[in-house]
Amino acid sequence: LTSKTDSFTKKPEIKPNTKDAMEHLLDQIAQHFPLNKLDVSICQKICVGCPKKLLQYMEQEYDFWREVLAKSETPTLGDIHKLAKSSIKIHKALSNNGILKP
Ligand code: SF4
Repeated sequence: LTSKTDSFTKKPEIKPNTKDAMEHLLDQIAQHFPLNKLDVSICQKICVGCPKKLLQYMEQEYDFWREVLAKSETPTLGDIHKLAKSSIKIHKALSNNGILKP
């Protein structure tokens, strides 16, 4: 019994590296969003929400977190979770507007 409870109570020896996780998330965002390409016509006759503003928000978040990592600052797990959640929602909204493939 002691060895089983030890595995639950023992702290992991390797802490999750939030810098690497944020780096990975930013790479994914860069790969899936047309960042800094606002010359590409995004305005349409009918919009669901404003995809232009959503993409601008995504660009600002991306640039902000790239700068944070460049300064060797460490994001929290909450920061990563929040950005991941926003990027999923915005990707869905841009897909609904036909700007990105679902
Ligand atoms: S709602 Fe936004 S994306 Fe759509 S036409 Fe207006 S500014 Fe452009």
